[in-house]
Amino acid sequence: ARTGLLLCGDLEIAKKIISILSQPYSVEGSRCIIGASVGVAIAPFDGQTSDDLVRNADLALYAAKDAGRGVYRFYADAMHNQASERKAIEDALRDALAKEELKLLYQPIVDVGSEHVSGFEALIRWQRDEGDVVSPSKFIPIAEESNLIVPIGEWIIRSACDAIAKLGAGYRVAVNVSPRQFANEKLPVTILNAVAAAGIRPDQLELEMTEGVFLDESPANLEMFQKLKRTGVRLALDDFGTGYSALGYLKKAPFDKIKIDQSFVLGAADRNSMNAAIISSIVGLADALGMETTAEGVETHDDLALIRGLGCSHVQGYIYGKPMDLDEVEALLAEQGGLVIARGFKSAREPRVRTFRT
Ligand code: C2E
Ligand code: CA
Ligand code: CA
Repeated sequence: ARTGLLLCGDLEIAKKIISILSQPYSVEGSRCIIGASVGVAIAPFDGQTSDDLVRNADLALYAAKDAGRGVYRFYADAMHNQASERKAIEDALRDALAKEELKLLYQPIVDVGSEHVSGFEALIRWQRDEGDVVSPSKFIPIAEESNLIVPIGEWIIRSACDAIAKLGAGYRVAVNVSPRQFANEKLPVTILNAVAAAGIRPDQLELEMTEGVFLDESPANLEMFQKLKRTGVRLALDDFGTGYSALGYLKKAPFDKIKIDQSFVLGAADRNSMNAAIISSIVGLADALGMETTAEGVETHDDLALIRGLGCSHVQGYIYGKPMDLDEVEALLAEQGGLVIARGFKSAREPRVRTFRT
């Protein structure tokens, strides 16, 4: 009975609220954009008291934000389970640092021309209670939401700097920096301290950030870019092409590198795919702006050959190595002096036309 007319009306209201709030404002000549997400709970179905209703609307709001923001969600009973799972992860994550359950793995980034490793991307792993390894795609958003990303991020930066000190002057390590970390005014000091404590050159540390950090183009945000740049670290734009891709920020933010997202790389050698054309224009853009390019997620020889032909400067992907721990990294560098050999299938599997099931 709750569907039908009632929901239809609420749906229209929710859509309207989002679209009206999302209209850009003009403030002293600059464009300001405010986003909105909406969670809806309806009395008496979703709660009889105001407390219940507000709590359930809040759960629906969480679901809306999870779905990528700028959308609405109606409350559903299943959201309670998701919320308690989220809370359990958050509580366990709070202790993970102290219990030394977090570790960094390092994936080689390879110079396309020389096939030598130029550096590594640090990728976090969380092994809960000696048990399952939780994927960062699952716990990083929760760490973001709860601000736990700030202490965890500091630990990541310090550990990466220590790793750089071990590897020596010829290599760089990149760390992922999330929007909350970027918004934290202590970030430059954290970086300077970590670099000094490890005794490394600042340009051996690279910060990877996604287009998400540009959602807020405030003066404070642009100032942070300048401050980071002044610390001497390198900046890389991660997952390029997947976000909202307004190119204007490329000229405001002093990036040293663009990382081309795996979605453009996978199957790029397929003749029916537009990906090669897209990669080629990204490389052209990066070259013109004096930036390096890394193609992410390269798995097959065909894709590697294509990427090489299109002029990407660096490659990262299973074809040259999966994320590994620091001991394996040191062994790899000691063995062949950083020269790596591409290993993988020739091409991606043909798409299946039909699946038969018994
Ligand atoms: P990302 O920054 O785009 O990292 C690249 C992801 O692609 C990694 O997944 C890596 O293992 C995977 N990958 C690399 N080469 C290949 C390949 O050839 N094929 C395939 N299929 N995958 C490949 P991972 O480690 O699961 O990390 C997922 C995401 O979690 C990262 O995406 C990043 O957004 C986030 N993340 C990981 N570590 C950290 C961290 O220390 N801090 C923050 N803030 N986020 C992190
Ligand atoms: Ca990354
Ligand atoms: Ca990426």
